[in-house]
Amino acid sequence: MAQTLALDRDQTLQILSCIGVDLPPHTKLSDDALDDRLRKALNAAQTLSIATRNPSSLPVTAYPVWPKTGGKSVFEASIRTSIAEAQEVHGKRLAGISPVAELRVNPFVDLRQTISHLGKNWDQGNKMCLILDSQVDEASRIPMHIRMLEVRKVDDRTPMIVLLYGPIASSKPAYASAASQWLNEKLAMLPADAKGMRYMPNIVASIDEQRLLYKLFTQNSKLVPADYDRKVQRTRAERNYMTTFILPMGPLSFEDVGKLTLDTGCVVCGEKVAKRCSQCQSVSYCGQDCQLVDWPAHKSTCRTLKGGNWITLRFRNFAGPILDKPIFVTTLNRRSVPQAPDGMKNIREVRETDIQPNVHGEKAFLIKIQNSTRPLAHLMIYDRQKSFEAYYTRTVPVENAALYDKIVTESHGRRGGYGGVKIYRWAKRTGDYELQVCLDKAPQETVPW
Ligand SMILES: [Zn+2]
Ligand SMILES: [Zn+2]
Repeated sequence: MAQTLALDRDQTLQILSCIGVDLPPHTKLSDDALDDRLRKALNAAQTLSIATRNPSSLPVTAYPVWPKTGGKSVFEASIRTSIAEAQEVHGKRLAGISPVAELRVNPFVDLRQTISHLGKNWDQGNKMCLILDSQVDEASRIPMHIRMLEVRKVDDRTPMIVLLYGPIASSKPAYASAASQWLNEKLAMLPADAKGMRYMPNIVASIDEQRLLYKLFTQNSKLVPADYDRKVQRTRAERNYMTTFILPMGPLSFEDVGKLTLDTGCVVCGEKVAKRCSQCQSVSYCGQDCQLVDWPAHKSTCRTLKGGNWITLRFRNFAGPILDKPIFVTTLNRRSVPQAPDGMKNIREVRETDIQPNVHGEKAFLIKIQNSTRPLAHLMIYDRQKSFEAYYTRTVPVENAALYDKIVTESHGRRGGYGGVKIYRWAKRTGDYELQVCLDKAPQETVPW
């Protein structure tokens, strides 16, 4: 059976999850809403906002041509890796495991590798290539045809590859005939080897990666200005080929994940009018149908939190006493991409008024609370992803003392452990500087930190 490169609903959800945007598996968000979520996730991953301020058009010719010499190669400049990924790869190397084999199971990671691969091909002078799934038998393969046109320089670290890609015909015979026409035309232009054979360079991709790549090509294609597209010289075989572009792609930041997972309203369907689960108050549903659908996923949390006593903590962004000098920190978290063009944003002044990202929305999540007595008595609070770091100081402001003591007593009590230095609890983000913590219930499961 011929495959298709259109993404269905389950595939969209799965790919969103690979990008880091986890929605409930039974979500009733409309297909259009899911599609839009994926479009936004891809735009965040390719940091489109750096290349254009206009969300509907990309000023291709406003950027100079990428220099052939003197700067980074397109390949080098295309690589974006987060600290988490770098650590993972390093750990695997130490353990003697090939990180490449392990990484090639996630279509999003694969897509990012393919993009830097295309950059490598450009550096080596190969402007044409096929992207195909070598695991699928040849009859049902859908090789994607690529001819790179030019590379523009958005900035020193951001090459933009402009390319032509083949249309994916819905009927196999029509597609096959257009495809062979293109292949024959291009092969004739390539040098022959000693035996007179000509080869088109291939980039191997899984069918899921191809689907994701096709989605990216299609959405970027809409941003190419019409007058640019009109001037692209196409051969006869390319007359239906579309112009598109690719930018280096990195993992999403916590801020982006937060924006893309933040749902107000029913956690399953997104309906705005929703009520909290009466048992645990930690999650909202529009009604019984959605609540039932989500129960298998929710029940363990719900049972832990039932009847729990929630305290409200007004946290701060740092522990120290009010300082009269600014303090600078690098907020390099596991998701940071140090090589990204906006990487320097990671070094910033910590201000009392900064708002830390909320990646959990209204959902309950596990936090670690750590005690420290120096330089002044405070609690450091963070989640598993370290998406935020909150401080609760005993005497600043002075009315914190009673709650602070209550938490310290709890961590030394029968639900404590770890010598009283830390406890794990369920929490909800209820404001920019506010957390609610279910203090008197320890998580049932072992905490996978
Ligand atoms: Zn609902
Ligand atoms: Zn519940």
